[in-house]
Amino acid sequence: MVVDVKELFLQPFHEVVERGKEAVANAEAGGHEPGVAKLMLKSARALEREGERALQRLQPLWDERVAQYGNSFTEAMRDKEVEKHQTLAYLLYDLDDFVEIDTFDEDRFAKVQAASKAFALNLLETIKRLRIEPPEPAPPTGLPTPTSPDPTWSEIPKLSQSPKDRDSSKPPDRALPATPQKAARHCRRPSSPDVLGAERQGVRLVSQPASPQQLRTVTTPPTTSPRISAERGYCEAGLADRRLKRSKANCQIGLESTLYKLDGFCPGAQTFKNRGPYAATKAAMEYGTNGSVARCVECEFRHSLAELELDVGRDSSGNWCKADVLYRLRFVYKSHLKVRAAHTVYYGCLFCAQQGYTVHEGDATVFTKEEQLFQHLARHPQPLPEVTGVTVHYGKVDQDNPLIEDYDLHFPNPPVPSPYPDVTVLGRLSTATTLKNHERRYGSRPLTDPDGNKDRVLQFLAGSRIVGVEFPEKWKGKWCTGWQEGVQGSFPANLVALEPPERAPEMSNSGVAATTRWAWDKRDFKDQNAGWLSFGSNETIFHISWVHQSDWCWAGMSKKGKVGIFPRSHIDPNSMRQEPGPSLPSSYGMPKTSPSGLMRKLTVNSSGS
Ligand SMILES: [Zn+2]
Ligand SMILES: [Zn+2]
Repeated sequence: MVVDVKELFLQPFHEVVERGKEAVANAEAGGHEPGVAKLMLKSARALEREGERALQRLQPLWDERVAQYGNSFTEAMRDKEVEKHQTLAYLLYDLDDFVEIDTFDEDRFAKVQAASKAFALNLLETIKRLRIEPPEPAPPTGLPTPTSPDPTWSEIPKLSQSPKDRDSSKPPDRALPATPQKAARHCRRPSSPDVLGAERQGVRLVSQPASPQQLRTVTTPPTTSPRISAERGYCEAGLADRRLKRSKANCQIGLESTLYKLDGFCPGAQTFKNRGPYAATKAAMEYGTNGSVARCVECEFRHSLAELELDVGRDSSGNWCKADVLYRLRFVYKSHLKVRAAHTVYYGCLFCAQQGYTVHEGDATVFTKEEQLFQHLARHPQPLPEVTGVTVHYGKVDQDNPLIEDYDLHFPNPPVPSPYPDVTVLGRLSTATTLKNHERRYGSRPLTDPDGNKDRVLQFLAGSRIVGVEFPEKWKGKWCTGWQEGVQGSFPANLVALEPPERAPEMSNSGVAATTRWAWDKRDFKDQNAGWLSFGSNETIFHISWVHQSDWCWAGMSKKGKVGIFPRSHIDPNSMRQEPGPSLPSSYGMPKTSPSGLMRKLTVNSSGS
């Protein structure tokens, strides 16, 4: 878009003016050091004037060129590297740390002023000297000319890569720490991408916005294909296919999803994606440490400033690796949700969000840990859907590729196979929606199941789905097991609502009765029309009906005459018997299906005794 290229070049001057104004206000407010305040006022006014002067000259010239040449001008400017642009951007990055009287640094202000002037003069010169082809005539169809995509992060000016340069533009007391603070939390990429994943010969680059010069698909990476087990004897043919279709529908990221409930990605993450790190982060001192952090302008999300600088500077040590997926720190910034509570950082998958679907119906839409996000990404079929402002490498990346240190994600390997059970296995088990969060709070004890195990407890957020839900006998209906994000774990039953089966059993006068072993009370389920039958433990259920006896969901009638569906797991399997019981409410009429298999079994049993 036209405005973004302009902003790319003129935004630094707006920032110069803003910082100048801020400092003027602070200086005028005075303080216990009138001498410093006076000095600061002078520097701040000079800075403000410098920025205004630049804008007064550049704005009209820019607008004039746009009026004359339209898109051709902005497109020509898009790729221009104007000298001193990066220097100014770098100096502005944490200038707001120096605009208070007690942090004022005269030398710093002078440097920004000089850089602003130098960049303004260079930019004026560049615009004046730019050779522009006249705009192409409008297409005859009258269709609007396609607008260029938003600038990507890679268009943000490159910071000086030499550590010497970097130090010289920083005041001595704010020198960068020798080693990044949080390095221990990550595993560093051992070497440049081409060394890894050498089994893949091809190169595939997908970067947005698409540029015709860029190398596109050479090989299509293998994708995961849905696995369908041959074992389908228990059910009628076609159930697996229906299940697949339903599973796809269940992947939809709807209004009830965690991502929607938590208001989607942080606006700061979107700014980072569309306008780069300078617009989306601010440098700040990390409380309790001696390091600086780059904090999101919209929330408390932060990482070490030194680490982000490695990424911005396209430093080869700015590569990280989790779940065998390589990434640059920018990707984590682009993926965060607004931080609402200290120590609670959540991430979304930009690719699932873009498509509106998760990869598997048991996938989460929000991740509570970076590791979980990358494990999820490792399972994504490749190539991933294109997302504007996110650059993805696949396989081997050539050493001379200009984007070798300038990307978001790099998948050196094909996707990890799905860890979920087959669709036919999951089809026999129930699916649940999570009603509440189940996560370990910062500083609290690990979550444990009723047996005291903490290794296999499933953590989740409200609004997610759990597939393959089962009620192990030992937990008497109070805890379940199930799959989410490819991991099987246990969780309290009262935190989830079971989804009714795709095909609910029809009630019939089956004459089959059984005794419940655990209570099943679903009055708090949101979907009250699903037709659940609530009962206590040790109650008799009459006219038990099913589609297939092995299905997880049966239907029946309580002794009070209430009719509904319930999980088979809550029935004592040894209590199955023939017992006519009270007749069904008239609306249910004559039996349509009879659980013949069970009847035969019961007959055999009774004759054998
Ligand atoms: Zn944020
Ligand atoms: Zn995803």
